[in-house]
Amino acid sequence: MGGMIPAVPVRSRPRAPAPPPRQCARIGCQNLVHKPTARYCSVRCSSLDPNRRARLRAGAQRGRVLPMAHQLTLNFDAAEADLANLAAAREDVPAGLARLVV
Ligand SMILES: [Zn+2]
Repeated sequence: MGGMIPAVPVRSRPRAPAPPPRQCARIGCQNLVHKPTARYCSVRCSSLDPNRRARLRAGAQRGRVLPMAHQLTLNFDAAEADLANLAAAREDVPAGLARLVV
């Protein structure tokens, strides 16, 4: 017998019906939103929405993000000292290898 594989038509998954267009989230805007994930009819409209601006402003004031340089402390001398302290009480560790033990 030959290795003929019968051709099975690949059926694409049936798409969910598109949700009906909603009205733009900006109060006073009568436009409809066609994109399923969008809340506003346009980028311009979202930037004009006073509610959204107030929300963004409040969020920005609540969670002030420190720049990375201020978050990270790269103090290697302190790390070395910690390692030394860690090995100090361990008598089974030869002094020369003490800094390798964590
Ligand atoms: Zn709009």
